[in-house]
Amino acid sequence: MGQLSFEDDCLIRELDSRYYGFLDLSNSKNAEIRTLVQQTITNLQNYIANGQVHDSKNFSDNKNAIQKFEPLTQEGEHMENTSSQNNDETKPYDTNANEKVSTIDEKLHDDHYVNALCKLGHLHLLLGEYSEALSAYQKYLRFRENNYWTNHAFIYGIGVAYFKLRCFKWAIKSFQELLYLSPNFTCANEVHLRLGLMLKHCGEFHVAQKHLQLALLYTYPSTYSELQVKFQIAHLYEVQNKHKAAKDGYEFLLNEKNISLELKADVYRQLGWMYHCVECLGEKKEREANALNFLQKSIEADPKSGQSLYLLGRCYAGINKVHDAFLAYRNSVEKSEGNADTWCSIGVLYQQQNQPTDALQAYICAVQLDKDHKAAWTNLGILYESCGQLRDAYACYLNATKQIIPGSKSSLIRKKQAIRMKKDTIGLSKGLSQRITFLEGQLSQAPLPSITSKRRQLCSIEEAWNLPISLEMNSRQQQTAQMLPRQVTKQSPVQGPPPPYPHSQLSQSPIPAKRIKEDGTGHQEVTQNNSQTSAQNLINISESLNQRNFNAMPESNKNSEQSVVDTFDEISNDIYKQNETIKLERLSHDALSNNEDSRYDYIGADSADLSTTFKIQMDSKQLMAAVKLLPIDEPPVHCTVLQVNAPPPSPPDCPPQKLTQDQLLPPTPSVHLENKKNAFSPQLQEFCLKHPIAVVRGLAGALKLDLGLFSTKTLVEANPDHSVEVRTQVHQSPDENWDTSQGKRVWACISHRSHTTIAKYAQYQASSFQDSLKDESDKGFPGSQAMSDSDSKDSVSNSNIVLKRKKHKINSKMLRFGTNVDLSDEKKWKPQLTELQKLPAFARVISAANMLSHVGHVILGMNTVQLYMKVPGSRTPGHQENNNFCSININIGPGDCEWFAVPDAYWGGVHNLCEKNNISYLHGSWWPVLEDLYKENIPVYRFIQKPGDLVWVNAGCVHWVQSIGWCNNIAWNVGPLTARQYSLAIERYEWNKVQAFKSIVPMVHLSWNLARNIKVSDTKLFELIKMCLLQTLKNVLHIQEYVKSKGVEIRFNGRGKNEASHYCGQCEVEVFNVLFIKEQEKRHVVHCLSCALKLSPSLQGIVCLEEYRLSELQRVYDSFTLHRTQGLAYTQ
Ligand SMILES: [Zn+2]
Repeated sequence: MGQLSFEDDCLIRELDSRYYGFLDLSNSKNAEIRTLVQQTITNLQNYIANGQVHDSKNFSDNKNAIQKFEPLTQEGEHMENTSSQNNDETKPYDTNANEKVSTIDEKLHDDHYVNALCKLGHLHLLLGEYSEALSAYQKYLRFRENNYWTNHAFIYGIGVAYFKLRCFKWAIKSFQELLYLSPNFTCANEVHLRLGLMLKHCGEFHVAQKHLQLALLYTYPSTYSELQVKFQIAHLYEVQNKHKAAKDGYEFLLNEKNISLELKADVYRQLGWMYHCVECLGEKKEREANALNFLQKSIEADPKSGQSLYLLGRCYAGINKVHDAFLAYRNSVEKSEGNADTWCSIGVLYQQQNQPTDALQAYICAVQLDKDHKAAWTNLGILYESCGQLRDAYACYLNATKQIIPGSKSSLIRKKQAIRMKKDTIGLSKGLSQRITFLEGQLSQAPLPSITSKRRQLCSIEEAWNLPISLEMNSRQQQTAQMLPRQVTKQSPVQGPPPPYPHSQLSQSPIPAKRIKEDGTGHQEVTQNNSQTSAQNLINISESLNQRNFNAMPESNKNSEQSVVDTFDEISNDIYKQNETIKLERLSHDALSNNEDSRYDYIGADSADLSTTFKIQMDSKQLMAAVKLLPIDEPPVHCTVLQVNAPPPSPPDCPPQKLTQDQLLPPTPSVHLENKKNAFSPQLQEFCLKHPIAVVRGLAGALKLDLGLFSTKTLVEANPDHSVEVRTQVHQSPDENWDTSQGKRVWACISHRSHTTIAKYAQYQASSFQDSLKDESDKGFPGSQAMSDSDSKDSVSNSNIVLKRKKHKINSKMLRFGTNVDLSDEKKWKPQLTELQKLPAFARVISAANMLSHVGHVILGMNTVQLYMKVPGSRTPGHQENNNFCSININIGPGDCEWFAVPDAYWGGVHNLCEKNNISYLHGSWWPVLEDLYKENIPVYRFIQKPGDLVWVNAGCVHWVQSIGWCNNIAWNVGPLTARQYSLAIERYEWNKVQAFKSIVPMVHLSWNLARNIKVSDTKLFELIKMCLLQTLKNVLHIQEYVKSKGVEIRFNGRGKNEASHYCGQCEVEVFNVLFIKEQEKRHVVHCLSCALKLSPSLQGIVCLEEYRLSELQRVYDSFTLHRTQGLAYTQ
């Protein structure tokens, strides 16, 4: 094995994931480096093949991590046994070895081995060998489970590998963690851009926009040009149906002088397709002309664009120019980018021309290229059905609807069962499930297929799949097929002849492959209504193909059929199961080509970490001295306010204890108040703090609260023109959430926002009530229908579902929910706010024992009162309160509300279910399907809140609410001064940062105020607050040192009284004490250090302001000590 020269060695040491995209190893001018990289890979592979890791701390830690994922399984035990055997086996080697290796050497050795895995990952990545890179990185991760987050180049590398292999969920997770850990990372702009692309793909447009804007901010070099990023932003508008903004964005790009031909082709393509699809862009004829014109320009700019040719074909097909359409499709296929979509469209065209055999062949091409191509399978089913071949049609429909169930056998029967079971939860599109049921009925009565099939028009699906089809098609298809999986086939040798039912092949490939779920973008298929042939239900690929981001994603190479890995389960299994196959053999020293262990000393760039020396026992002087030792060549990052060296926060696993049927439906903690004394007893507060949620019945009566002050009548009299936010929602039966278009129960719920006034909403509320009275007298049965359902606690049986669905269809009307009415203005709402002072202190809007009263400024709806005005069915979708604070909710009446709640310990489980349903936990509107929760062992409280009842929502409790009758509610947040409340609040504060979600409670600012204002005698609470002070003070000092080293002056600015705390105008993170101000569009915008550096790496042109004197912060920090009470309370 060749040895590296000193220079080469230095070069290789230098190389890591950060060079990805900047060092083009396929370029012949880098041939030498390429050879060097390949040679090093071979060396590393040999080293690793012969290497081993001692059964040292790293490994056993890691073992625990594995067990965490596979709790209590026999496999887990087995693994333990194996490793202890290993342990035994290593001993003889030790005694045989010439010299006894000290534990330090062993540790070093293991580090070399593990770091070699990371280096291997980097080098494969630079060569564009993504699967190999991912595999090496995953092995590295196994050994670094407990501290991988100190190696930022690794996180970036694995993120890029996931991204390139289209494992978006994992790539997003890695990149979010990376930005959280190191917002100033060298390639942060690349990370923002890729996050933007992926989040756009996943339908999280708001966050996607944020990341793309942040990517634009950078002045650093990027693998994407500014114009390419702007193209992505325009496309983001397009997928959100903001057509005007999208069109403007595209046209802006066309006017740019230095636009590349390729980008020009993309812009013309998008514009052309928009003209084809978007009705508001003009009259149809004119639009079609524009569409053809732009698509032709796109092809001119990039004659190789199969995509544009394909779309051109679609446009021709749309105006019945069949011949031109065929030509364009053919060209598209020939441009080597022909894909399943093209073949599917060709099939549609043939089918419309009444050429079933040709249509069959085209569809077969489509499904052979993409075995999960739903539209092609459906069309194929329709084709067979129209030719009376019901059995084949049935098989095709099943393929169109199949869900990939990991580990399932592919037998037809099992699939049928699976589908039957999941029909309602996973959901088939309505038409399809009807067809399947219909065919099942037909087939069960039909004679054996061998008898009926004596004269078939088309060959059966098995034959069609296996027999060579028309030569011309076949050769084209082969040609196309070769092009498509080019990036994956290398590693997946399982490429034999495809079986008739493609299900089974998926589970055989080494990495479970499947198409990225596109449900989120809602693009999938649209019925072509204008077709005149028998195939009236033919599905063409979505008219909203523009919403499909593949073609707008420069890196995806337009290969939507590339095999992908998607779900968390699959990957995590992949990571953790590999454990058993990795060889942990004793390292033979000869295996090293030389004895310089340091050759493989590729320790991650960010591993040095001095922060371990910081602890809350330090006083401010010691702290300042320690900060002086921190390096200032790199800018300090946002600090975590959790403990020192904390891993990036992530949703917790659910408690493992298996719950019984009864425990899944726990009784709601409730208490009935008789009188004022009850309301003010300390036991009431204790009761509330003890439970995830509690309902305090009869509160208004006991306190003689005048609820009439909050009735619609009084509100209208007081402030008729006051603003009301309106949510327009679908009226649903009480515990269900249906997607009417798909006929299935879903998590996503629709809630469109608009605004009105109290007076207008009051009118709506009243007329809605009048209407219902009329309806009921018309129908002739009294009582509210909704009311009768709400009491039933039993889970829904199948017959019930059908029944309710029917009912729902009839009732599917829209309703308007008046929400977030701001009652903060003391002048406008004096009588109302005064009345609320009758409440006991722990429930009051303002009180010394309420953390939110120490923020020092208003946080609307949190430390002020909000009002909700409801008609039956008004829904507050699932959520936790902002920063996990507690909340108080009083029903004013006259109607009831129904509540659902999940204890905070299970929020990670709810989060995962949201993810499974492709909906954002933080940003999305979701209404949980109760059965899904029970299946995941997640308990749900469910109860009715009557007028005058107060609901206490404890910290972190996930809840969703809907009104049964007509009623108003008032609500606000409180923060009891407990360790639990504080720790949940800062945990969420940190997780929000990972998710790029703004924390509307400024926890750092609040913590400093708490330190000034209160005495803490609870040790846990004290330590948490002190840690926050320590971390922020350290960060402030570090930032100041850094800024001074840049030669920038910090000016004292102070703070105004009740001045709001500050947030970064770019990334929305809280900015404490050191503000970076830059004028943007004539406004002075506050920035955090990281964003300021993006705008100006030298900080030139940025004003740096200080809010507090350092001496003041030092004083607060030093004088915040644990308060010893003389009382008995804390001695027990
Ligand atoms: Zn920022």
